[in-house]
Parts: sequence; C-alpha cells; structure tokens
Amino acid sequence: MISLDTPLEIIFRLSPFQKKALVKMRLKKVDDILRYFPTRYGEAGAIKAIEFLNVGENAVVFGKISKLKTAKTFRSKVPISTAEIEDSTGKIKIIWFSQPYIAKMFFGGMLVRIEGKVSVKKNGEIYFSNPKIEKVSQMPDGTSDSLFSGEDNFNLSPVYAESRGISSNWIYHAIQKIFKSGVLKNLEESIPEEILKKYSLPSLKTSLIWIHAPRKKEDAEIARKRFAFEEIFFIQLDRQKEKYIAQKEKSFTIQKKEKEMKEFIKTFPFPLTRAQNKSIEAILNDFKTGHPMSRLLEGDVGSGKTAVAATASFAVVSTPPPDRKFGNLQVAYMAPTEILAEQHFESFIEYFAKYKLPVGLITGSGAKKFPSKSDREKSTKISKPQLLKWVENGEIPILIGTHALIQKTVKFKNLAFIIIDEQHRFGVKQRMQLRRKHDIAPHLLSMTATPIPRTLALTIFGDLDLSLLDELPPGRQMPETKIVLSHEREEIYEKVREELKTGRQVFVICPRINDPDPNKETAINAKSVKSETERLQNKIFKEFKVGAITGKLKPAEKEKIMRDFKDKKIDILVATSVVEVGVNVPNATVMIIENAERFGLAQLHQLRGRILRSSYKPYCFVFAESKSAKTISRLKSFVKAKNGFELAEADLQQRGAGDLAGAKQWGVSDLAMEALKNIKMVEAARLEARLLIEKDPDLKNYPLLAKYLVSKNAVHME
Ligand code: ADP
Ligand code: MG
Repeated sequence: MISLDTPLEIIFRLSPFQKKALVKMRLKKVDDILRYFPTRYGEAGAIKAIEFLNVGENAVVFGKISKLKTAKTFRSKVPISTAEIEDSTGKIKIIWFSQPYIAKMFFGGMLVRIEGKVSVKKNGEIYFSNPKIEKVSQMPDGTSDSLFSGEDNFNLSPVYAESRGISSNWIYHAIQKIFKSGVLKNLEESIPEEILKKYSLPSLKTSLIWIHAPRKKEDAEIARKRFAFEEIFFIQLDRQKEKYIAQKEKSFTIQKKEKEMKEFIKTFPFPLTRAQNKSIEAILNDFKTGHPMSRLLEGDVGSGKTAVAATASFAVVSTPPPDRKFGNLQVAYMAPTEILAEQHFESFIEYFAKYKLPVGLITGSGAKKFPSKSDREKSTKISKPQLLKWVENGEIPILIGTHALIQKTVKFKNLAFIIIDEQHRFGVKQRMQLRRKHDIAPHLLSMTATPIPRTLALTIFGDLDLSLLDELPPGRQMPETKIVLSHEREEIYEKVREELKTGRQVFVICPRINDPDPNKETAINAKSVKSETERLQNKIFKEFKVGAITGKLKPAEKEKIMRDFKDKKIDILVATSVVEVGVNVPNATVMIIENAERFGLAQLHQLRGRILRSSYKPYCFVFAESKSAKTISRLKSFVKAKNGFELAEADLQQRGAGDLAGAKQWGVSDLAMEALKNIKMVEAARLEARLLIEKDPDLKNYPLLAKYLVSKNAVHME
C-alpha cells in the first residue's frame, strides 16, 4: 500500500542516474513529489487526427492503444516501452525511454489521450517520443477523423522543472501513477475544515488533483492559492505560537520617568525624528509590561536605528535590578560583523561615558573594556575571561559583540535586554534560543535595514511587533543615482575627482576579490578589488590615497583599514560588498558600483545607504556590463526608488514565478513568495493562525495540524 511516506525508489524502478537527480531535486517520498508543483501549464499541441500529424510538431491524439511492450536497448540497457495508437484515420507508433512501468499501466484496447512530440526515424517512420499518456473514457466531442479545435478541457498540460535524468514528463507520469494507487483516498486534511470553508479553498485532495491535472485554468489557480495559503498559515502558526509562549514569560519590568528619558535624549547632537520618538515610545511601553518585548525595528539605512537602540539601552541600564537601589540591569548588543560591533562600541562609549557606565566589547578576535583603568577617557584591550567575569558579576552593564556574545561561556548577572542588529542574518530559532537561555526572559529588539515587503515581514517575522523608521533625519539629500555607460567613464572620474578635491571620500564596489584565473573557461569576467585598486591608484587617482578592503582580510586588518578611512588617511576605498552592512563614514558621499548587474536590488540599496549619512549631496554611479532588458529595468527601478520599502515592493511585484531566487534566503517557497503579492491572503492566514493559537495553544484539538507543524519545522531546520 502506497502512503505519503513511501520512498519513490520503491514505487519506481530508477537508474542510478535518476536516483541522483531525484536527490538533487529533494524528491524522496511520495509526499515530496506530490508537492512538486508545476512551474507553469503549457498549452498542449492541437488535437489532431493521426493522418494529419506532421514531423516535429507537438500534438494531441485520441485513440485505442495496442501492442504494449517493454524491452531493453541492446547496448545501454535503457528500458524502452513501445505501443501503437490508432484512430479512424491511421496508426502511429509510440516509444518511451526509461519509463518501463507505462506498458504495465495500460492495456491493449484502452481509449487514451497521447500528447507529445512527433519524431521521425531514419527510415522515415514517424512516432511519438516520450509522450504523455492518459486514459480517457470517451473521445472528445466531434468526430475522430476531423481536426479538433484547440479549445477544450483536455488542453492544459503541467510543466515541471526538470533535472538531467528526470524530465517533466517523467514527473507527470509518476504523479499520475501515484494518483492511481489510491493514496489520495486516505489523505488527511492539513487545514481545519472551517478555515477552508471560510475562504472557499479546496480540500488537500482536490487541490493536488487540480494542481497536477487541471481541467481548467481556474482550478489550477485556486489549487495554487490553497497551497500558498497553507504554507503561509503554517509559518504563521509557528510564529504565533512563539509569540504566545513569549507573552507568557516573565521579564524585568523597566519603568522610567519621562523627564529622565528626555534628559538622555537631549545629549544627542541632534533632535530625534518623529519616527525615532514613536519607536522609542513603543519600546518603553513594552518594557513596562513585565513580559518580554519582541520587536522588529525596520528602518532604511541611515534612518538612525542606533540612537533608538541607545535610548532603549539607557532605560535598561539606568534601572537597578528588582528590590535593589543600586547596580544595573544589563544589555547585550549583537552585531553581524566585527567592524560593526566595533563601531557600536565607539558610539555607546560616547553616549554613556558621562553616566560613568562601563561598556564591554567581545568579538572573535578579542575583548575590550571602557573605561581603561589608567585612562578614564579611553578603552583598553583586556582578556576575554576577565571581561566575562565582570559581565557575570554585573559590573559591566553593556556588552557589545558579534556572535561571540551568545556563546555558552558568556553569562550575565541580570540580562534584561538583547539588541540584534541586522537581524536578517539571524534566524527565528537562534533568536528563541538566545532568549530561552535565561531564567528571566530578556526583552528583544531586532533591527534591520533590509527593506522587505510588508507581507513578507508579517510572515517571516510574524512573532514580532513592528516599528518602522520610515523617515530619514532632516537635511539628508537624496542621492543622485546614475547608470553610466562605458564611454562616460572618464567624465565620471572627473566628477569624482572634483568631489575628492572638496574633501569628500569615495567607495568603489567590485563584485570580486581577485582576478579570475584566465585559464579557467568558467571564469567570471567582473572587476576585482585587487586590480581595480591598482588601476585607480596608479592610473586614475594618483594624487589621492586608494585603499582596499574585502571579507578575506583578518578582523584586525579590516579594523585598521576602516579606521584609516574614517580618519581620512584613505580617500578612496575599494571594497567588496563587505561594506554593505551598517558601516558609518559620513564624509564618504560618492559611490561607484562596478558590475552592478551582479548585485540584487536590495543589496544595491544597502550599498547606496553607505553614502546617505551626512548633509553633503551624495552621488551613486552605477556601471553595468550586461545590457539585457531585465538588468536595465532592474537598475532603472533602483535609480527611481525613493526608499527601500518602495524598492522592495517594486521588486516583489516585478518578479515572476520561477524568478524568485531570493525566496530561499527567507525559507519560503516560490509559490508562497507569489502569494506574498497578496496582502489580503497574508492577513487572513495571520488572523486565522492567531485565533487558533489563542483558542488552543497546544493544538490539542488539531492533532493533524500539530503533526504537520512539527514535520514542517523539522524540514525548515535542516
Ligand atoms: P542606521 O539606521 O542605518 O543604523 P545609524 O544609526 O547608523 O543608522 O545613523 C546614521 C547616522 O545618522 C549617524 O551618523 C547618526 O548619528 C545620525 N543620526 C541618527 N539620528 C539622527 C537624527 N534624528 N538627526 C540627525 N542625524 C541623526
Ligand atoms: Mg545600523
């Protein structure tokens, strides 16, 4: 008896080649292949009478099948099935390679529909090669010897993504065979009935049939909708459950007087924006509840997230632990790179020095502490064990670091607040682990500059409350972004030289670190940091200092180069996209991006954000090698977009099915990504998931759902 868990190799005889292909396609079990959905539906060829078939065309014929046989080819031992189909006008031979089971699924005399390519042998005999075959109960309307029009119910044919050894047709027939095994009869519905009814979604069984063998377009569409809903619903269930659990946990209550907060905010050299104030207010409200905050602070690059984080941190560290009049609750601030951790360390020293609050830094390459014993104005390197001791006994209220921060060896006395910068590099499960490590759950603020569409944020960050920094500090100028043609290069360099002369600094972004090995055929021809640095220094900008930074350098080297750039010892910094995240050098206002076609839209936007940090006019010059229409249209929306959110929405709408490589990064399928264009569906899935979890947090009355959820998560964790 075939079940969803039956391995495919038990049902199908597979060559080693095919086995390998299936592994690559992640198709192991019946369930996997049933959920391997068509990427599109081809219009089948016209329905024809056999007499009128032409070599090379794609056609559909109806008729009686006979002479079914299976043999192996003489040399390569590939199994071959053959048969003949006959209508009232004639006969044609059929050959299937590597699909020996077909001969066993059909009997002589059956009425079938054949769809495929008409090929020709050397001797002039024509035949169908590897066509689709399907049993039918009757001939289509009309007479069997006339030419039928293409407009009828039998005319949608699913097309699946292929891999070498596994063709679209192979998958089609495999699924047909599985359908015939009766597996659908015992299928358990994964979505509660009442939800299906409410949104008029078809059952799992119907949806599987409709998506793989639709009789009409609308059926296929509603089936896709159901599967998209299902995926988003499951993600939401998972996130809503996390949220529910978090809300039950206890946290430190932090209650600050407004006056005290205002005084801290006054120490910034600028007034906060309305959006910054609003976010801070939301955070302070969360702090009061006694339950852990889970908040996502989403703000375009340069929108001032650090100031929000610092203000929230102040509220925490100026609060003594419960039942005490002195000492501090603690803050952990995690950054994705050492450069950024270092940068936050410096900013926090600036913000908190006047409060005499020690700040610690821990990264893969070492530890630092502010203030130094010998010089109260400076920070100093110390040993990690020493720093960790002070963190554990509560003497250091603020600890900043990279991933090193969440290692087991790092223990806090009263950790009340965790800040995660650039949170997209940090998964939900890691987030939860971080929090569950502590008896009293810390408040959590995740910050991201990655502009993601609202529907995606609501889905993958469904456990978080959302604060948006949707305005830039006043006085920032919109960058002038220009797509540059190769003959304009000299002209652009002159423009850049003028900016350099007025004292500004320049980023040059290249996709590669080193030049490719010219002997390798596959070598990608894109600019490298290495040769571009040499070229710019020796040929173009001799009078300025050109430096280089890549992800390959040691942390200490990176740190030195970034410091030199900040201190203006370097005028032009050639870099890979390592500068993408968060680096703050306000005086750098010009960016040249080479081979821009190699960067994603979101990435380009992040890069451009580096030069939006001051009131000088920023310029972004975009060179692209590829002149494809797609590249041009992408770059055009990059030039036009006013902010990251706009760009993200444009990006989502522009993408077509099968063009959603970015989806993988978020752990959602192409299908769900398509559904994310539809805010109504996302909101419905979110609402239903929330209601369900509120009603039945452990899903006791929904054992199937609980089971599905566990298995889905197991897949996600892989
Ligand atoms: P991001 O949101 O990208 O992390 P940062 O926090 O690094 O942005 O802030 C970018 C720059 O803007 C910093 O130099 C910071 O001092 C400055 N800044 C932050 N808030 C304001 C504000 N309200 N007015 C003016 N400048 C600000
Ligand atoms: Mg930042």
